[in-house]
Amino acid sequence: MSDLMDLYQEVILDHNKQPRNFGPLPDADHQAEGYNPLCGDQLKVYLKLAGDVIEDVHFDGSGCAISKASASLMTEAVKGKTLAEAEELFGGFHDLLTGDPSVRAEAPAKLGKLAVFEGVREFPVRVKCATLAWHTLQAALAGDSEQVTTE
Ligand code: ZN
Repeated sequence: MSDLMDLYQEVILDHNKQPRNFGPLPDADHQAEGYNPLCGDQLKVYLKLAGDVIEDVHFDGSGCAISKASASLMTEAVKGKTLAEAEELFGGFHDLLTGDPSVRAEAPAKLGKLAVFEGVREFPVRVKCATLAWHTLQAALAGDSEQVTTE
């Protein structure tokens, strides 16, 4: 188990240091800003849709390692997915972090790399860091131009 935790930590550190899909998306057709006042994480999510498929997704901003790595992994996870699939991933991710353990049992397999955040559930304050990018993604899809916050 501790080997697994080391691996998880490595993935998070890697994505924090070299975030994927980082920077504005010039031809984005949806975008939103998210803010987590508890930690000071601030990020912006940019989307380009093709029908109901997320053709491209980028993010930028600044925040703690968890929020940045989570945003980076989120962009990888939802790119090329339909909106329904992305919504399902967020549901699974949310359950992993906050749900009861029985729901959680089968989540990791479906979530792929997103499962690296499992350890975050022990730190409720950090859950907001990890879910910020996802809430911001939802706001972008909903067309909310106002900033969303985790509070
Ligand atoms: Zn944070």
